[in-house]
Amino acid sequence: MDDKLQRKLSRRSLLKGAASLAGMAIVVPLALTSREALAGQKASKSAMQYQDKPKAGKKCSACMQFVPGKSASADGTCKVVAGSISPHGYCIAWAPKS
Ligand code: SF4
Repeated sequence: MDDKLQRKLSRRSLLKGAASLAGMAIVVPLALTSREALAGQKASKSAMQYQDKPKAGKKCSACMQFVPGKSASADGTCKVVAGSISPHGYCIAWAPKS
C-alpha cells in the first residue's frame, strides 16, 4: 500500500470516529433525561401547559395526580408537575380520579 492510499484510509477512519462521537453526544443527554424522569423528577408547568383555571370542566381537584392543600380552596401539589398547584388548575396530564 502506498503512503497516499494509507493516509486517505487513515483520514476516513478518523472522520468515521468523529461521526460516531457526534452521535454519542446526542444520545447521552437523551439517556440522562430519561433517567431523570425515572428518578421521579417532576415536569415543569410550562412543559405540561399548566394553567390556573379549569379546561372544559377538568380541574386539578378532580385529577388523580392532585395532592390537596390545607383546605379545599388552598393550593396543593401535584405528583407529576412541579410547584404550587391550584385546585382549579389544569394541565395536559389531567386524569380523572378513579
Ligand atoms: S397532573 Fe395536571 S391536572 Fe392533574 S393535578 Fe397535576 S397539574 Fe393538575
